[in-house]
Amino acid sequence: MKQRLLRQLPKMDDLLGHPGASGLLESHARTQVVAAMRDILDRIRGEILSDVRLTDVTTDEILWETEKALAEKTAYRLRPVVNATGVIIHTNLGRSLISDRTMDHVRDVATRYSNLEYNLEQGVRGTRYAHVESLLQSLTGAQAALVVNNNAAAVMLALSTLAFGQEIVVSRGELVEIGGSFRIPEVMKLSGARLVEVGTTNKTHPKDYRQALTDRTGAILKVHTSNYRIMGFTKEVPVEDLVELGRETGIPVVYDLGSGTLGDLGNAGLPPEPTVRQQIAAGIDVVTFSGDKLLGGPQAGVIVGRRDLVDAMKDNQLTRALRVDKMTLAALEATLIDYFNEDKARHEIPTQRMIFALPEELHARAVALRESLAHPEHIDVAACQSQVGGGTFPLDHLDSWCLSIAPENESAQSLSERLRNREIPIIARIAGDRVLLDMRTLTPKDEDTVRQALDELVR
Ligand SMILES: *Cc1c(COP(=O)(O)O)cnc(C)c1O
Repeated sequence: MKQRLLRQLPKMDDLLGHPGASGLLESHARTQVVAAMRDILDRIRGEILSDVRLTDVTTDEILWETEKALAEKTAYRLRPVVNATGVIIHTNLGRSLISDRTMDHVRDVATRYSNLEYNLEQGVRGTRYAHVESLLQSLTGAQAALVVNNNAAAVMLALSTLAFGQEIVVSRGELVEIGGSFRIPEVMKLSGARLVEVGTTNKTHPKDYRQALTDRTGAILKVHTSNYRIMGFTKEVPVEDLVELGRETGIPVVYDLGSGTLGDLGNAGLPPEPTVRQQIAAGIDVVTFSGDKLLGGPQAGVIVGRRDLVDAMKDNQLTRALRVDKMTLAALEATLIDYFNEDKARHEIPTQRMIFALPEELHARAVALRESLAHPEHIDVAACQSQVGGGTFPLDHLDSWCLSIAPENESAQSLSERLRNREIPIIARIAGDRVLLDMRTLTPKDEDTVRQALDELVR
């Protein structure tokens, strides 16, 4: 039996010469087809030898399996999903969305040649950073700006430029770990500076900083502990005191703002978040923040601050290694232009729109979506709470509305799995025996996807 089946295994040359293989060889490189066929032959041989396989082997089967394997391999792994969790800046689901209008600009710039590093007025070499620098100057009040790949890179570049081989003074209460295991102390080490911790976890006083400053100090670092809060008996040194200390000693003060908002989020019902402009106005020398957290742009790290310090960063060789792509610059440029009109930013930038969406509006959308369903019987419109996410506002919630589904003959877990396993996966939240779909993080396109899914899955 075994011998007979093994003899049925076709030779590679015969497989490749088979008329049924011509289509495969037209749409894929020969080496890829050969590799896929070899994997399949090896697997079947193994099955025969271990007596798992008892049926005849045919060439058609191998060709069909090869086609399937190649189709799977060449399908996109990175896929759109529907974020129905209500967590706006969802770290696992791509953080901030980019608007279609912003993507139009990215497409224009990336599918054609551009003036990325070309000065059109003078017909000479230009710099890629110039395109967003003046926008950032206007929006933050800073003298100069630079953009790198992400905020982690921005912090490292700033510290490495200002304090390589020297010391950086930072409060013990601010030695945080951000999602994705970005640890402030580790980044400081990578920048080539020595970390000098001052104060205690819950309290740091101005004199703690003062005592730690020496002629070896390269920078004073302040970190916005955006993703957690120490409550109770606490004290952090106000920005103004740090600025004064920096002025007195001539040591630059760097503030890693993390989420970095350009506008006030108070109207959305959130507590005050330090804006970039406020920190620059208060006299902070260098502020760094993320492009794809509260700003709602592409992944990027923005550095704004004193001209001489930012220029030194531009000259640092690290900048070349951390430099942003033209697509990032195009997306950031379009996002920043939206901020010249705050109302527009709140409508055009998906992250901002989701933060500022009013509960009444979300309720109306939930009702309309429910009414459009073929089988709304087991689905309610219910109040729920959304989160900003991205390590921001850890204790705060935004009032929202959701579709709340009590599945008939299955658990909430099972329904949420079926939602997740669709061609366009829908990521939901479970509360008790219900599956919740928060309206706040659904785009209009997502609502169509959700409608179709619920019509098929919930009857
Ligand atoms: C998020 C965050 C970072 C890291 O920013 P990325 O853009 O993710 O690299 C650094 N510092 C703080 C305070 C943050 O909140």
